[in-house]
Amino acid sequence: MTSYFLRHAYVDGAVRDDVSVEIADGRFTTVEAGVSTGWTGGTGSTHGAAEVVEGLTIPGLANCHSHAFHRALRGHTQRERGSFWTWREQMYAVAERLDPDSYYALALATYREMLATGITAVGEFHYLHHQPDGTPYDDPNAMGHALIRAARDAGIRIALLDTCYLSSGFGAPVTGAQLCYSDVTAERWAARAQQLCGAAGDDGDDVVIGAAIHSVRAVPGDQLATVARWASERGAPLHVHLSEQVAENDACLEAYGVTPTALLDEAGALTPGTSAVHATHLRPEDVETLGRTGTRACFCPTTERDLGDGIGPSRALHDAGSPLTLGSDSHAVIDLFEEMRAVELDERLATRQRGHWSAAELLDAATVQGHASLGFPDAGRIAVGQRADLVTVALDSVRTAGAGASAEAVVFAAGGADVRRVVVGGRLVFTPDDLPGIAAELDAAVGAVRMAP
Ligand SMILES: [Zn+2]
Repeated sequence: MTSYFLRHAYVDGAVRDDVSVEIADGRFTTVEAGVSTGWTGGTGSTHGAAEVVEGLTIPGLANCHSHAFHRALRGHTQRERGSFWTWREQMYAVAERLDPDSYYALALATYREMLATGITAVGEFHYLHHQPDGTPYDDPNAMGHALIRAARDAGIRIALLDTCYLSSGFGAPVTGAQLCYSDVTAERWAARAQQLCGAAGDDGDDVVIGAAIHSVRAVPGDQLATVARWASERGAPLHVHLSEQVAENDACLEAYGVTPTALLDEAGALTPGTSAVHATHLRPEDVETLGRTGTRACFCPTTERDLGDGIGPSRALHDAGSPLTLGSDSHAVIDLFEEMRAVELDERLATRQRGHWSAAELLDAATVQGHASLGFPDAGRIAVGQRADLVTVALDSVRTAGAGASAEAVVFAAGGADVRRVVVGGRLVFTPDDLPGIAAELDAAVGAVRMAP
């Protein structure tokens, strides 16, 4: 058993002082607030049998939308003008250079960067399935296994969202870099994804195999239901890129006569187990449909602003019944603190009013809702029975000093660089001593991919 004495901790929706937690078999067995006063030791000292942790400790953060290989693009896509579509060409060039070994190394370093910023679970939206010419590897899931291995070795929990991607656009065949994404038909995608399910461990393990529909562009309308059924029959999470671009909506209306949201709804793909990623350009009836079906809305504000996507109706979705979750998507930035506050700050810019989202609501999106959307409903709270994830934020950094021990300080003042300790499932997986090694790993892994022929 491990025990900690947390100076301040976010428990039951509020910051509490002097919180004692005990952990056994990766889960909290005791959580008690206000149990002691008068102790003076700093982090690393002990209070009875418990290790003392200064700062403000919050539950683990869930990064619900990741493409690990996009990390190799950071800093290299900011010179030209262009659009989402020109950025996509650069992303394809990186995708073509990856194999299971280089993908493992890049994902391992990227996941360690996530841990360093307090992310304890990642939803990996994975579609680099095959060799560059489309030929499957000897193990058809070699790339998926590389990602799972990277997550396990990093110490982060993963929902591998195996993604169906069959078309370059509304039934047109895949070309170029997209060849490595395609399983040709949804049935063949399902057969390969099924083989991958053996990679997940027993209940309580840190790996979930989920499904994803890349988009209504990439999966023909008559095959959407196959993917949706595969996920629902297994109780697996289903994620889908939705209406990130106006051009996608226009092409969908032309091809099918309905919006992407309506098309997914007709296919039975919108349920409480579904996450609609981006959900940027929606009609009022789309918002109503997503809310009615309980579909979660996964916003990725730092990517959406990087790519010039636009600002989605986060509050309207929430009020309609779509819980919010967050992701760092393209990893232009990996910082869930920034994603949290960006949701509120973007709404302020769009409406010229403040106060749409409270800090507590944004923390809920980044923790409870996020983990649940990845198939980990037993994570995201510091509570008895939950998975023992603890993220400690410094209150004495240049950003947080004087800001107080509050949810507002965490959401609106702190950043990933203020994370001092990360515990996942009761295991200490990050302290700032790890930062130089993580930076060196990132440099080597990105360099290897960018220099490959
Ligand atoms: Zn994405």
